[in-house]
Amino acid sequence: MTRLRVAIATVGCRANQADSASLARSLGADGVEIVSSFVDADVAVVNTCCVTAEAERDSRKAVRRALGASPATRVVVTGCAVTALAGFGEGFGPRVRAIAGTDTDMTRVAALVGALEGGRDRDAGQARGPVGRPLGRERALLKVQTGCSHGCTYCVVPAARGEERSMPLGEAVERAAALFGEGRPEVVLTGVQLGAWGCDLPGSPRLASLVAALADRAAPGRVRLSSIEPWSVDDALLDVVTGHDRVCPHLHLPLQSGSDRVLAAMGRTYDGRGFLGIVERARARRADLALGTDVLLGFPGEDGAAFADTLAVLKDAHPSYVHAFGFSPRPGTRACSMFGRPSRDEVRERVRETRLFGDHARAAFFAAQGGAVREVAIEGRGASGPRGLTDNFIPVFLRGEEAAPGSLVRARLGTAVVGGRLEAEPALRDTGLSR
Ligand code: SF4
Repeated sequence: MTRLRVAIATVGCRANQADSASLARSLGADGVEIVSSFVDADVAVVNTCCVTAEAERDSRKAVRRALGASPATRVVVTGCAVTALAGFGEGFGPRVRAIAGTDTDMTRVAALVGALEGGRDRDAGQARGPVGRPLGRERALLKVQTGCSHGCTYCVVPAARGEERSMPLGEAVERAAALFGEGRPEVVLTGVQLGAWGCDLPGSPRLASLVAALADRAAPGRVRLSSIEPWSVDDALLDVVTGHDRVCPHLHLPLQSGSDRVLAAMGRTYDGRGFLGIVERARARRADLALGTDVLLGFPGEDGAAFADTLAVLKDAHPSYVHAFGFSPRPGTRACSMFGRPSRDEVRERVRETRLFGDHARAAFFAAQGGAVREVAIEGRGASGPRGLTDNFIPVFLRGEEAAPGSLVRARLGTAVVGGRLEAEPALRDTGLSR
């Protein structure tokens, strides 16, 4: 009797990846085999994204790829594009079933997959129980928050994910303990608007209290924050991110624009000076902190002066890396009907220039870390040796030493970069980590 085989494809953010991971976990616990390719799957699940036109295209491509894998494959399409874009799940044909709605833990998707199995004859007594760890990730995602009502004018996520909802502290502690108990070296806290965690819970606790509670119980593992909006960063959060030895010294703060006029049009509730103030307070606490950011170029009303403001704020912030994207008008958002968009060529050039700036910033951050001893979470093996990620978000490869995936090792960083990874060597004899 073969098990039902399910392949899960995810487009989009860490919140989506966390949803897919929790779906894989619940299906695995129910005896389903999670496979990594559509060709081997009886059922394919496509967890979609619509935050940009490109993500929407990638989601449609994934559905078509799943359908093309074999004439027998049944496809379940879910996620933000199905929820926020009218008719997204339709028109793919009878083998596709769509599930809309902000299904935080994918229970309805799992139920549908189970129902799709219904047609197969099955020996109830056998082939049940977990089939090992979900595919491919040593560092685990834990989605502790979902939904957003902040209302950035370009963003379709609130329409897809609904109001803010937080995982209660006790449940988060339990889930994190289970992940560390599986031998995960790192738990990455994620959400749709992570910084809003707690706003809907009794007493409105702040994210810092959750991070501290998880970090206090994490050893030998560690906790990392994924992207957090600038308006959610308070001193308590900066203290725990920069001061707790089981929290990765890494902040990802989306700037989006350095022009106060454009930020206001985006509905972002901070200005360039405010953003730099957070960076200053964070760096004053911790010089080796990794500070990443996102920049959205080509927003309606962004002229040459506004772009210059963005580059100026970036230069003053000295980020460790930069993700730059072109504005993509999303149906149903206020920005979609705004005028004054720069030309495609202008946008393409601004994205290119910002990414170039980001490459230099990243190289400078790597160089500044040369010689430092960092804690590396080993994620697998690459061509040059075991590969992993430092606490301050530097991808490395370990030269001359074996290290098992999932382990945390101390390593001295070198200066050579191979395939985007900084070389490192074991630092067994070193007494302490660079902190
Ligand atoms: S904070 Fe803004 S960009 Fe982020 S999910 Fe909410 S509306 Fe979208």
